[in-house]
Amino acid sequence: MKNAQSLSELNAVNSFAALPEAFYTRLPAQGLNNPRLLHANHEAAALIGLDPAVLSTSEFLEVFSGSRPLPGGDTLAAVYSGHQFGVWAGQLGDGRAHLLGEVEGPEGAWELQLKGSGMTPYSRMGDGRAVLRSSVREYLAGEAMHGLGVPTTRALALVVSDDPVMRETVETAAIVTRMSPSFVRFGSFEHWSSRRQPDLLKTLADYVIDRYYPQCREAQAGETPSETAPYVNLLQEVTRRTALLMADWQAVGFCHGVMNTDNMSILGLTLDYGPYGFMDGFRLGHICNHSDAEGRYSWNRQPSVALWNLYRLGGSLHMLVQDADALRAVLDQFEAIFTRAFHDRMGAKMGLAAWVPDDEALLDDLLKLMDANQADFTLTWRRLADALQGRRSAFEDLFIDRLAAGAWLDRLLARHAQQGRPVAETAAAMNRVNPLYVLRNHLAENAIRAAKMGDPGEIDTLLKLLRNPYVAQDGYERYAGLPPDWANGIEVSCSS
Ligand code: AMP
Ligand code: MG
Repeated sequence: MKNAQSLSELNAVNSFAALPEAFYTRLPAQGLNNPRLLHANHEAAALIGLDPAVLSTSEFLEVFSGSRPLPGGDTLAAVYSGHQFGVWAGQLGDGRAHLLGEVEGPEGAWELQLKGSGMTPYSRMGDGRAVLRSSVREYLAGEAMHGLGVPTTRALALVVSDDPVMRETVETAAIVTRMSPSFVRFGSFEHWSSRRQPDLLKTLADYVIDRYYPQCREAQAGETPSETAPYVNLLQEVTRRTALLMADWQAVGFCHGVMNTDNMSILGLTLDYGPYGFMDGFRLGHICNHSDAEGRYSWNRQPSVALWNLYRLGGSLHMLVQDADALRAVLDQFEAIFTRAFHDRMGAKMGLAAWVPDDEALLDDLLKLMDANQADFTLTWRRLADALQGRRSAFEDLFIDRLAAGAWLDRLLARHAQQGRPVAETAAAMNRVNPLYVLRNHLAENAIRAAKMGDPGEIDTLLKLLRNPYVAQDGYERYAGLPPDWANGIEVSCSS
């Protein structure tokens, strides 16, 4: 397939816009004054078959700064509802986002959505804008997660301006263009069930199944196809993907920060990057969102919160299925799917070829030790491979209680001895799953500071490292080190 040489050659459509009008409001985005393209993502452009030369055209800037529509698209803001911090929040929706359209790429279709592009009927108290700080963080996060192999939305472009935006202080407005096969959320389903509109709920469920989960319509072996089976199967598939996503998050030390049901992707992708964080010093109960005083979304609670959210989705689908037992049976599978995936990932991080029940204690004890010492999450895992190869102190240095760290290491080495795999082979396997570079808060902060001066250089550097986070690159030691002291003072909150 030949790359599109202009945006009109992309042949945009918008299948979401073909849904009944109750699902959205059609309205133009509101552009920024004197917008500048701070960064464009060549990898994302390739996903939609767009020639990289188009990224530097005025047409590209106009469309992705919200000044004119995507040729062939159909600009709209979608409605949804949701539970926020465990409480029913009622109607929400794209309060500052505009879906421009959908583009068929070489490996599938992608929706293109502006975030920070002005008010919509769903803005509530908000101003429809997003600040540069949170836009840089969102732009980087999708690519960082993708580099780690974690399912995520992506980002195509980051446009900045001098337009003032009032948060705790005055900041400047930016627009990030996100890409995802779909931006439908658990809350999109809750919207129609809460309004007691089974017809529209069914329309949405059928749309999601037909486009993204066609296998849900296939009858299971030995079962007669029923009208409601596809919706049970949908819950099953979303449960499976969400459980795997939680295992991925836990394994890379990622905290989402705002796991409200309106931020949960129906495709099991990491969605809506706000006050997220990759942990530096490990705490089991680490809270990355300064606004989450009670720690509802702390690191160790993420899997159970995901299940709580899936119950809300299941509760919505109940309106279509009636058979609560069938839905509950599906949700009951979450724990086993999560646990198996978590053990697979954590076992691999420890250099284990296969997980045995005793490994649970080995893992728990390491996590407890890391927690007690606030050992750096990323480096603890990464330096295990060094420790295997005789460089024990690199690992032990990360713990105040070096003796305890050393004793745990001896247990791991004894476990490895049982496997009988050559040490170099084990160490190489570990380095393929324990990243060296993650998007630590202070690295994002440095990129934000440079971006405020109009300099995209740090974004470039970070993308280069984070797209290949398992491979050490010469000259970038600073990006793989412990955070500086000032990193402790960085506060990220819901304000964005
Ligand atoms: P979030 O917690 O960022 O997922 O946002 C929750 C809801 O608030 C979503 O419906 C957003 O669209 C909306 N929202 C957040 N910030 C703004 C803003 N500055 N202007 C309008 N709506 C917003
Ligand atoms: Mg959101």
